Amino acid sequence: MAWCPFARKLELQPESDDQPAIRPTQLIFHSVAAPWDEVRLYEYWRDSTSLESHFGVDYDGSLGQFIGTETRADANARANLRADGTGAVSAETASRTDSSDPWTVEQLETLTNLGVWMHERHEVPLRICRSWTDPGFGYHAMFPEWSTGGTDCPGPARIRQFREVLFPRIVARAKGIEDMALTDAEISKIAAKVLAGVAKAAWMTDGVLTVPAEWTSADNPQWAALSILVDQGKRVRGLETAVKGIERAGLSEAQITAIADRVAASPALAEAVAARVAELLAARLAS
Ligand SMILES: [Zn+2]
Repeated sequence: MAWCPFARKLELQPESDDQPAIRPTQLIFHSVAAPWDEVRLYEYWRDSTSLESHFGVDYDGSLGQFIGTETRADANARANLRADGTGAVSAETASRTDSSDPWTVEQLETLTNLGVWMHERHEVPLRICRSWTDPGFGYHAMFPEWSTGGTDCPGPARIRQFREVLFPRIVARAKGIEDMALTDAEISKIAAKVLAGVAKAAWMTDGVLTVPAEWTSADNPQWAALSILVDQGKRVRGLETAVKGIERAGLSEAQITAIADRVAASPALAEAVAARVAELLAARLAS
């Protein structure tokens, strides 16, 4: 018989003495569909039903244990005691009657510690059960063999928490990497690396930006930001070179002749040019 050192012992008799031994290989999480603390749950198991779980967790995280973890408890149908002597340990948790609410922060904390204890005390491996007999961690609805006639327990919000929060936290805490302390210098180093990675991805990720068809004759309209920047730079430098060339060259003889011919062919243009020449001449004379 094994009793969790941070659980309040509320031993159920005669079940605790009468029920057969198991070798615990799984920890299965439940919602009890009632907002009960561990004492109220103990009374329910004792007075109202022949079923029971090993553990009960109230909303405030307080933990009760009703049966030793090396004794069969009857919350998981065929997994309670298998033919090979292995069995599942069950943890009930206070919930709304429709089991729609997520676990509280305090419940998650207790369930994490319970998971770590099961790993250390009974060598339950740090993985999610891959079948109804596979050693590891799970929730009630995970396999049909774990219930009679199917169940949604512990409810969709807690099933999500199991995968996203609870199980990863059990693994992290069991491996001692959850509260790993970092120095300021280490944090700065990590931040700089993250920043460099983000900047590189922002400039070089292809398939995010679409360029107009007239920019490119290639079939690929999806460019990385860096390619757009390089392309535009090339075009601007090309224009600069062209403009400088025109400035240096001035007008050719042929261009001057062409302009003079156009002026001569248009009386209005000739008039305007003559007026401008007269204006410039008057100004020169006045000075
Ligand atoms: Zn359940």
